[in-house]
Amino acid sequence: MFLFYGLSYLYGGYQENKKIIKPSQTELVKSIGEGKVTSIEVRGSDVFIEYKNKTKGYLKKETASTFEEVLINLGVNKAQLQGIDFRVNDEKGFKAFFKKILPFLFPVLLLIIMLLFLSRQGGMGSQLFNFGRSRARMIDPNDKSNRITFADVAGLQEEKEELREFVDFLKYPQKFLAIGAKVPKGVLLTGNPGTGKTLLARAVAGEANVPFFSISGSEFVEMFVGVGASRVRDLFQTAKRTAPAIIFIDEIDAIGRHRGGGTGGGNDEREQTLNQILVEMDGFEPSSKVIIIAATNRSDVLDAALLRPGRFDRKILVDLPDLKEREAILAVHIRNKQMADKIDLSVVARRTAGSSGAELSSIINEAAIFAVRAGREKIMQDDLLSAIDKVYMGPEKKSRIYTEEDKRLVAYHEVGHALISSILKYSDPVQKITLIPRGMAGGYTMFASETDKKFKNKEQLFDELVAYLGGYVAERVVFGTVSTGPRSDLTQATSIAHSMVTEYGMSDAVGPITLRRMNRLNGLVEKHSVQTEVLIDQEVKKLLQLALARAEKLFRKYRKAADALVRELFTIETIEREAYETLLRKFKVPIGKGG
Ligand code: ADP
Ligand code: MG
Ligand code: ZN
Repeated sequence: MFLFYGLSYLYGGYQENKKIIKPSQTELVKSIGEGKVTSIEVRGSDVFIEYKNKTKGYLKKETASTFEEVLINLGVNKAQLQGIDFRVNDEKGFKAFFKKILPFLFPVLLLIIMLLFLSRQGGMGSQLFNFGRSRARMIDPNDKSNRITFADVAGLQEEKEELREFVDFLKYPQKFLAIGAKVPKGVLLTGNPGTGKTLLARAVAGEANVPFFSISGSEFVEMFVGVGASRVRDLFQTAKRTAPAIIFIDEIDAIGRHRGGGTGGGNDEREQTLNQILVEMDGFEPSSKVIIIAATNRSDVLDAALLRPGRFDRKILVDLPDLKEREAILAVHIRNKQMADKIDLSVVARRTAGSSGAELSSIINEAAIFAVRAGREKIMQDDLLSAIDKVYMGPEKKSRIYTEEDKRLVAYHEVGHALISSILKYSDPVQKITLIPRGMAGGYTMFASETDKKFKNKEQLFDELVAYLGGYVAERVVFGTVSTGPRSDLTQATSIAHSMVTEYGMSDAVGPITLRRMNRLNGLVEKHSVQTEVLIDQEVKKLLQLALARAEKLFRKYRKAADALVRELFTIETIEREAYETLLRKFKVPIGKGG
């Protein structure tokens, strides 16, 4: 890489020299008159000219008067000069000298760097050239613009509470040390991507007002083979020097996967890096006042050695936000945005069940972009609602052409989902149905979640199955056949049914037994007899068939409402909750009554 860069530089330089012409002053004046000159730079008595056709020129001027005067004396007028980038650069002494030798110095420097690089590859001591320097980024506590505190982290009350202990320790270590308290060295944040793990870690540093060193597991393993371990050493040393401090290792699963199993095989590099982390953590005294925070969304694959006492023995699960928390997160992210007066974040929160903080923050951002594109100065409620669709379903595909048949198919499919879920007892209300295609979907039904359910019982899960099969059933009843459309619905339904049977003990025939277990050494194990296997298949199928029968009965019974909804969708494309429910009531559909 370096070599290539060096050569192309030299090559470029060589070409440049060839093109330089040496006009006389009168020739230059002529060129200026013809508008052929783009720039003139005067450095002492050297004049560098650039022509429109990219040729370069050079001439020497008498030092007595300024070059501008010289040109004007030779008949160039001011207007002509104005069209030219005219620079006078009167550098003398060292600076000018340096500029002159820079072109020669540059290749030499490259050569030196190349040599260093090569010798490093050859295994000469890493101390010598410092390639092992950790590439951690440090956030200085005095850098107020970058400071993040718990106030920037919405929701996550319990998580913040647990972390406050570390803040206190970093702030008043003496108090803890004097009494002989053992403070955990490391804390592992686990949770889905975008739930705010990085944010929390930074907030701990911000609250405690200590430096924050962060590095990502994947960066350790990245480019330079054989430097992971030395980077770790370096990172810990730097942190100790600036203690109290926080070391944050993001994506620790990239290095901390359990050894000898799964992907990657025997990756020496990773293993050495991991070992070095363990060595450093073990060598830490509480008095070193450094706390290590690691984050991962795959805590199931972590090496058990990382989780032993004295290492990452504290684990904090960072959960997806619930309804209240989602609203709070949205509120944090509109703080520095221009919002219209009539904004109701609770509506947005209700429509975004299951989303992470990162998704919520990008909804606000998309809304801002919508507002700008519409030429407005404030973000309106409608921008927020459109942003939800965009973030979840991808951009609208207005240009996608549908045949009338496809459109009918999509309409009945979506109406099938909506109508059937509306009748079910345990289902969220339909927020809207639309035929506007987005991303991969030809149309979609959106649900509003009133509450966040932590636990679901068998009846609720069964209702979910019925709702998922709603599209499939509608297609079958209306068109007498089934398309490829319901594929992902079927996948979802099957997976729910499978979990009901094998994980939650919801099938009497199989019994109260969990047939899928996580095993720390081997990951997922599903060990059971062939008979059990057959039984599982039967039970899963039975559940799905019951759900199908239920869905079909409901759809046939309220088919008139479905037809009316499809007609409506064909004219207005999107039906929102109120209009939708009014229509259902007109057809005496028992909303939420179960049938
Ligand atoms: P993770 O590290 O868990 O993948 P991040 O901490 O990087 O997630 O979160 C990404 C972004 O999402 C944050 O920068 C922030 O803008 C937003 N975010 C996530 N959780 C929250 C929260 N609880 N409060 C406010 N913003 C959040
Ligand atoms: Mg992160
Ligand atoms: Zn569907």
